[in-house]
Amino acid sequence: MKRDNFICRYCRLDGTRNYDAWLALSWDHLLPKGHPERDNPDYIVTACNFCNTADNRYFDNAVKRGISFDGLSQQALVEQRKAYVKSTREKYHAFRAENVSNAT
Ligand SMILES: [Zn+2]
Repeated sequence: MKRDNFICRYCRLDGTRNYDAWLALSWDHLLPKGHPERDNPDYIVTACNFCNTADNRYFDNAVKRGISFDGLSQQALVEQRKAYVKSTREKYHAFRAENVSNAT
């Protein structure tokens, strides 16, 4: 997390801003279970809890989506995943706007 300046690599939530933001940070593995580099810190990034779980079937759906992980840099893996995280965030945003009073 220190390497990533305590900032979510997907939505840029800044964990240095306040205690609640910091508590929301987690480790996000960029490689699927069983991959030999999965626990290499180079392939683990800072993510807020929402972004970490936004697409929790990400690895299960990889083949169906035609995405793979081998040979990609840390940043390329983040960018690849970010598209799916962003899609979920946008759905939640629309839901909130419609269902949560005073939502902006
Ligand atoms: Zn985030």
